[in-house]
Formats: sequence, structure tokens, C-alpha cells
Amino acid sequence: MTGTAGRRGYAIEPGFESRRAMANRKSPLPRAWNALKGWNVAQRTFMIALMGSLILTACSDGKQAGGKKEVNLYTARHYDSDLPLYEAFTRETGITINRIEGNADQLIARMKSEGASSPADLFITADAGALWRAQQAGLFQPVRSETLDSRIPENLREPNGNWYGFMRRARVVAYDSAKVRPEEIDDYAKLAGPRFKGKICVRSADSVYNLSLVGAMIEELGADKAGEWVRGIVGNMARPPEGGDRDQIRAVGAGVCEVALTNSYYYIRMATGDSEADRKVTERVKLGFPSLGGKGAHVNISGGGIATNAPNKDNALRLLEFFSSAETQRHIASQNNEFPASPDVAPPPPVDAYADFVANPMGVAAFAARQPEAQTMMSAAGWR
Ligand code: FE
Repeated sequence: MTGTAGRRGYAIEPGFESRRAMANRKSPLPRAWNALKGWNVAQRTFMIALMGSLILTACSDGKQAGGKKEVNLYTARHYDSDLPLYEAFTRETGITINRIEGNADQLIARMKSEGASSPADLFITADAGALWRAQQAGLFQPVRSETLDSRIPENLREPNGNWYGFMRRARVVAYDSAKVRPEEIDDYAKLAGPRFKGKICVRSADSVYNLSLVGAMIEELGADKAGEWVRGIVGNMARPPEGGDRDQIRAVGAGVCEVALTNSYYYIRMATGDSEADRKVTERVKLGFPSLGGKGAHVNISGGGIATNAPNKDNALRLLEFFSSAETQRHIASQNNEFPASPDVAPPPPVDAYADFVANPMGVAAFAARQPEAQTMMSAAGWR
């Protein structure tokens, strides 16, 4: 997930209808009964039964035709700012989006338990690691789409078409510009050195973002060097891991530590958002983009894949293509402060001020698949 800002206050209930919508729905029967004034009871009963069977037929037709008119989106994105996107998709295509919201693990568990009868068409979440876990659970079917292939660079999608990234985020460093020189944090390796003993704030090893970063270290540097790095980071922690990425940035601002690992959008949101206190923090705390193996900063994705048993597969593909469109990437970049995945989409404000960094070209599927190894390595090092 990309944080909690703008989180919706409710999730859509099973059956794709909110409780409020169900409560507001009035039974049509009393009105129908009154409309048949002048008919005797037997005639009324016959007419009501006929109407009922017509309604049932319409419903079942709707279900079959649903393959043409709707798509069931399981999404770990919970932003009010996404609502105009859904509306635009429905306006453009006539396809209604039924949303099931939850965090990635909840949705993966739900799709697993629903099995072959799962209504899920498209699963959208943040972090290649979460998408990889869904793939490992057999929840995706590979698709090929020229549209997706032309919009999404090869390293930001799963090689067999199981999932595609449409936004990018870098996992980088927020640093106290009064104490740390930019060249001291221009490589992730430097964070594990003696210079930062007791100076690092970072969230827990449960964070899929950290698992992906360590997975990328393993992929780039090999298990031995990555293991050394992980032990170095644990040894340099200013405090036991607590809170999310923004809490780490604020801790740098409060002088608890000098550097923090964070996803780029959290910092950009603090620097450009509504909170005056957070903007104040970012006057002193700056964002640096370290290099991994001399090839650039670690980049992750938000993305999605088509469910194995998608009842509306074509619509799911259209929706995934819609998410990969230039308009959608620009919208999400401006609202949620991730970077567009497509090199042809110019980053809009406010992310444009941060977009000029060198990105490590590593395939997202490669580091995602290193997650179990990363998890073991982090536990062994005492990264809790
Ligand atoms: Fe996030």
C-alpha cells in the first residue's frame, strides 16, 4: 500500500454492495401490489409471480452479460483520489467496477480461500514482493498485451506476463542535511559502515518494502555481501524498528537519528502536503538517492495482474491497460506521489522535482523472488 493518506473510511462488503446501499434499497413489492389496484388477489398474485420471474431472468442474464459489463477489482489501493479514475474508466468503457478493498495479505488470503469460484478479475497492490507472493499462490494467469508491453518497461513487469507495474517508487534515504553530506549516503553500502553507528532509523523486517530492498541487495551483490549489509544496518540502528516510513523521517527531523530508509512518495508527500509540521521537517531533512552496486537507486512498483479464474478477463485486461495509460500514471503521480512507470510519461508536479535520479534497472521480479531469502537473512541478523 502507499500509506494511509486519503484512506477510505469503509471497504466494500462481499457481494459488492455497501451496507448503507443495502439498507437504502427499498423492496419493490408493496409498490407493485398497489399498482395492481382493481385486480383480484389471484390476478395480483399471478402478476407479482410473473414480475418476480422476469426480475430473476433479468438478474441471471445480467450475471452472464456481466462478462461484458463489469469487472471485479481486488485492490490494496484505498485512495479517494482514485475515485475519479474509476469513474473515467466506466465512462469510457461502460464497464462497472466492483471494488473489494483490503491490504495485500488480506486480499491474497481471500482469493486463496475463494479458490476457483473467486469473483476476482484484477488484483492491484503495491510492491513487487506482494505481487510475487500472489503469483506463487497461483492467483494470476499470464496475459500478453501489446498495449501493456509498449507502456511498461520490461524490467517493471513479470517476464511471463503474470503482473505489470504501472507506477514506480524508489526506496531511498532521508537524511539530516545539517549533519550528513550527500556523498556519505550515495551508496546503500555506506549506510552499513561505522559512520552511521547508532544513526539509522528504519521500520521493521515485516515491511515488504524492506524485504524487497534486501532482496535487491542479494540479487545485486550476492548473499554474502547482502548478509554483511543487513548485519551492518542492524548494528547501526538508533532504536528498535517502530512505525512506518514517515515516522522514520520525522525521527530524523527530531534528531533521533541522522538517516532513515524510506519510500520516495512518503517523503514527497511530507514535503508537499498539507501538514505544516511535516513540511517544516523536510526543510532540514532531505531526500537522497543512493546507488545499489553503482547502478542506481532501488526501484519498486505498484502494479497488478489478472486473476487465474477471472470471470471477466477481457474487462480486467482493459482495466489494467487503463491503469497503465499516460493519463492514469500522471494522475496517480500527482495525487499519490509515485513516479510514472513509462519513460514517455513526464512526471508531473510535485514529483517532477524528485524524478531526476538514476534508477537501478534490475528486474522487479528478480528481487521479488528473493523475499524468502531476505526474510531469513533479516531474522538471523536480529532485524525485527
Ligand atoms: Fe506505502
